[in-house]
Amino acid sequence: MPKMIEGVYFIQGQDEMMPDSHSYLIGKPSSMDLSLIDPGLIGKGDYKIDSIKKMGIELEDIKRVIMTHTHFDHIGALSEIQKRIPWAELWVHRLEGEPLENGDERTVYGMDMFQQVCQMQYRIKSGSFTFKVHRKLEGKETLNIGGMKWEVIHIPGHSSGSIGLYYAPEKILIPGDVIYADHAIGRFDLFGADGSVLKDSLKQLSEREVNILLPGHNRVVTKLPAGYILETLEQWGPYLT
Ligand SMILES: [Zn+2]
Ligand SMILES: [Zn+2]
Repeated sequence: MPKMIEGVYFIQGQDEMMPDSHSYLIGKPSSMDLSLIDPGLIGKGDYKIDSIKKMGIELEDIKRVIMTHTHFDHIGALSEIQKRIPWAELWVHRLEGEPLENGDERTVYGMDMFQQVCQMQYRIKSGSFTFKVHRKLEGKETLNIGGMKWEVIHIPGHSSGSIGLYYAPEKILIPGDVIYADHAIGRFDLFGADGSVLKDSLKQLSEREVNILLPGHNRVVTKLPAGYILETLEQWGPYLT
């Protein structure tokens, strides 16, 4: 599990027939107050936890799971992770946290056909994605966690409750599935998604200086060129209506 900087660790997703999101662990180890960002695909919980242990990190230090959003490829492994670290809180944006508490799985699966495929493939019952959410985020909070200050940016459009986490001192952005390397962006045809809203979210992100982009899938980018997010927005603008 590579260390991006002191306090930010990357655990690469292991894609199968379905994608597995990357997971990130944030927080200075000395703080003993670490946060796991996005558990990943169903079946990948043990792999993610074992990768963390291999780094020499104590599982007791992981105090919470924060979701960039609650799509299946990010939240599928949550119950496996909760078995390994049952004390960890769950923090989710309110717009996806409330459905999660009510067992409304429309965001998790994104579309009916995908729900049927996942439930068959992984033998999951309806209602399995019902979780207690300990903290509902709104956006614009500054989280003082792990000896660092992370800003929460609400960036809907790929899903209604997508958030980005931004660490200003090192200009690090964890944008979930909103923007990736190589000028790719998240899909905007799923339940709760909206192209024009995604456009506004990209615009909002483009106002930040970002050096290190840690997306939910594909390459991570260190030394992101200046203006990258704006360029990406301009390329996609005509489609984001
Ligand atoms: Zn997604
Ligand atoms: Zn994803």
